[in-house]
Amino acid sequence: MEIKDALKEINKFSRRELKEDEVYIFDLVLCDNDIDRDMERFSDNALKQLRQLFIGKTGIFDHDPKSSGQTARIFTTELITDENRKTKYGESYTYLKACAYMVKTAANEDLIREIDGGIKKEVSISCSAGRQLCSVCGTDRRLKACPHIKGKSYKGKEAYIILDDIMDAYEWSFVAVPAQINAGVTKRFGGQDEDERIKSLEAAHRQDEELIGELCAALREDVVRLCFLESGGCRSKAMAAAADKMDVRELISFKEELKKECRTKAVSQLSEDTASDSFESFRV
Ligand SMILES: [Zn+2]
Repeated sequence: MEIKDALKEINKFSRRELKEDEVYIFDLVLCDNDIDRDMERFSDNALKQLRQLFIGKTGIFDHDPKSSGQTARIFTTELITDENRKTKYGESYTYLKACAYMVKTAANEDLIREIDGGIKKEVSISCSAGRQLCSVCGTDRRLKACPHIKGKSYKGKEAYIILDDIMDAYEWSFVAVPAQINAGVTKRFGGQDEDERIKSLEAAHRQDEELIGELCAALREDVVRLCFLESGGCRSKAMAAAADKMDVRELISFKEELKKECRTKAVSQLSEDTASDSFESFRV
């Protein structure tokens, strides 16, 4: 963007007309479409919404008491797709770039030097996502639980959360961290309560998974025992291998079938025994 176009945009937000030598302009990356450290990513739609919502938003420079009260304002945003770079899930990498300005003062000279030197790399944004979709089954985790745990893989599909339907963008801030620490975006959604709620949901999922695991193990034991009763050692081995691949529902119906077969067999065995008994007794 040409400086005169940038000034035109900047002056939409300032109370008085600012001149070129009064402002410091810098670029920053707000967020992207890749899966982050929290196993979350923004949808394409969310990025488009964020692009609009962040225009005019002020950012703060936290963690530095000297610079408290210093702010910068985003005056233009742009979505950039890098066709040569792929996300972890194989799509082209897209990021939301913003241009921000600060009015130069004696007090923010150091800060400007730090930004120029690339020291303040990490940007933290805060926004609210109306939908948080499971990447495996599409369930909106804000409304309902699903059994998929972030970071785990299900039939080759990695479970993470897709953030969609951004309702508001609150603020952005630069976090003073050395440049070599992996840069990234820290997000906050509806504060701590939401985080706590999601954590407890995940804990509940894990408990459910453990319970289901125990139930499956018990059912498999029953199935193997019934197979043995019904047909002896060699078939029960094959059945045990088959049972290993069954889920709870399949195991329950398999067990019912086996119980029925065993009952029929027991009845016919009993009548055979009775028959031979009577034959024996006849012989005696
Ligand atoms: Zn799911």
